[in-house]
Amino acid sequence: MNHVLRMSNIYAPTLKEVPTDAAIPSHQLLLRAGFMRKSATGLYTYLPLGWRVIKKIEAIIRDEMDGIGAQEMMMPILQDAQIWHESGRWNDYGPELMRMEDRHGNGLCLGPTHEELVTSLVRNELRSYKQLPTTLYQIQSKFRDEIRPRFGLMRSREFIMKDAYSFHATKESLDETYREMGEAYERYCKRLGLDYRPVEADSGQIGGSATIEYHALADAGEAELASCTCGWAANTEVAACLPHPKEYDETQLRKVETPGVHTIAELAEFLHIPETATVKAMVGKDAEGAIVALFLPGDHELNEIKIDRAVPGFTLLTDEEIKAAGLPKGSIGCVGLPEGVRIGADESLKDIKHWVVGANEDGYHYVGAEQGRDFAVDFWADLCTAKAGDSCPKCGKPITLARGIEVGQIFELGDKYSTTMGATFSDEDGKDRPFIMGCYGIGVSRSMAAVVEQYNDEYGIKWPAAIAPAHVCILPLSVNDDLVLPAAEKLADQLSSVGLEVVIDDRKERPGVKFADADLIGWPLQIILGKRGLSNGVYEVKNRHTGDRFEIPIEEFNDIVSMIKHAPALASAALNQLIEESQARAHA
Ligand code: ATP
Ligand code: MG
Repeated sequence: MNHVLRMSNIYAPTLKEVPTDAAIPSHQLLLRAGFMRKSATGLYTYLPLGWRVIKKIEAIIRDEMDGIGAQEMMMPILQDAQIWHESGRWNDYGPELMRMEDRHGNGLCLGPTHEELVTSLVRNELRSYKQLPTTLYQIQSKFRDEIRPRFGLMRSREFIMKDAYSFHATKESLDETYREMGEAYERYCKRLGLDYRPVEADSGQIGGSATIEYHALADAGEAELASCTCGWAANTEVAACLPHPKEYDETQLRKVETPGVHTIAELAEFLHIPETATVKAMVGKDAEGAIVALFLPGDHELNEIKIDRAVPGFTLLTDEEIKAAGLPKGSIGCVGLPEGVRIGADESLKDIKHWVVGANEDGYHYVGAEQGRDFAVDFWADLCTAKAGDSCPKCGKPITLARGIEVGQIFELGDKYSTTMGATFSDEDGKDRPFIMGCYGIGVSRSMAAVVEQYNDEYGIKWPAAIAPAHVCILPLSVNDDLVLPAAEKLADQLSSVGLEVVIDDRKERPGVKFADADLIGWPLQIILGKRGLSNGVYEVKNRHTGDRFEIPIEEFNDIVSMIKHAPALASAALNQLIEESQARAHA
């Protein structure tokens, strides 16, 4: 049986004012409703209510992982630098990896993810193809020294992650687990009540080939997602987009004086043409220091991930470097560049023969610069970040953009870690081969914030029953007489005996304070007990999600509760049933 919670006893200090450093609803509300407290930049304590939610999210994850045959275990957070040297990520991971030394001067790090550790674990123990596939997972605190920790649990330096790793003898076996994981991730999002979208993504620091991110749609999301009605969707970090640059109608090369024109917007206005009819330049250097000038449709931005694929190690030139290269600061163009500067251009510009572009001279631009005749492009690549209105790479219809919070990501790693770290098994012919691997992460603490982003209003949080800190809050309007509080206690016992989690607001507070806190904390269902209602034989019920308040005769209410008792459903399903039934009856 569940223990009844008492507001007089819960450590959930609520705040009236919006904390000044909290910019988005989930950060503000989780602080205001007393679910968490900040201890330092990007570090949070989960208070009792916050921890109850986290444990429920974890329980859903465990259910989904166990359901597809993954096995839970627990690896150390602290990891030996040696295995990171083996994989090459001690250098590659960069300053996000929190590094330290022990008293003997041995390198260590706090795990931001565990590919190295799990690979070093199994390389000596999973020896035969007969033991494969195997999937292992853990739910644990991870550490990343984020450049900009912000938005509370959304991007913190210590956060809770579920990380799973699978080991296979064949690519087909990996494909199957990857697909099952994807399905489990979708069920996870649904069980949390999230409006979510799976998208094509970049594999970033983790590496590997196939990867999908699962995003909760929310304005506060840091990711931008492109999608099409045909079902295609991708993070704009990688979305293959098809911009529509416009051909300029002059075909002769002509130098135009453009005084005071520094931006694409100014150039378009000056020439009375749309921005899509201009071509913009970005100048940088490759890993060897050779200068590369890139050209994009004027209305699009250079995409960092795409350029790094096209020109590994690409960095933009500083003002001094631009000067040293003999280039003007503004008005860089493709005609008459200094010897040795390589020209790269976005593929979409193949379609337009005549460009409006800088003239490599401050205060001047060219119109009618013709490919082939006036300049030559050395390489073409997809270089732009997708924009609304670009064409879908799958069906050609215009794409739309939305913002998302990445709650999880799955990866097909292949043999990246097993090869570099020498993790092999013997196949059917007794030959040693590297494991084929997959890895799968869910941001547990970030998921809590994502749910709050989607479930809130001006009064507070509206928890979906499946992860609410408790299902029902009983609000006795007076606690000093011998009628209301005993009735509330009795009701609490009755509800908890059928599997619901119940909290009583037994504080000596004014009704207004109790109502405000109940709405702020966001219990899905409130039952309000007052002298008048009790003497009339009714409870007043409020559904936090719809805001509906209605009276229900106590006898009928008891019928519903006893129905729940005899229904084999889980408590959260029972709660939904309670809400629906009681509403239907009250409205009947
Ligand atoms: P992001 O792109 O947001 O930095 P990531 O792609 O680096 O995240 P993964 O390595 O895929 O993150 O980690 C798995 C999950 O852990 C992510 O999908 C996300 O939900 C969560 N996560 C990652 N970084 C953080 C963080 N700093 N704070 C909270 N959760 C995080
Ligand atoms: Mg990710």
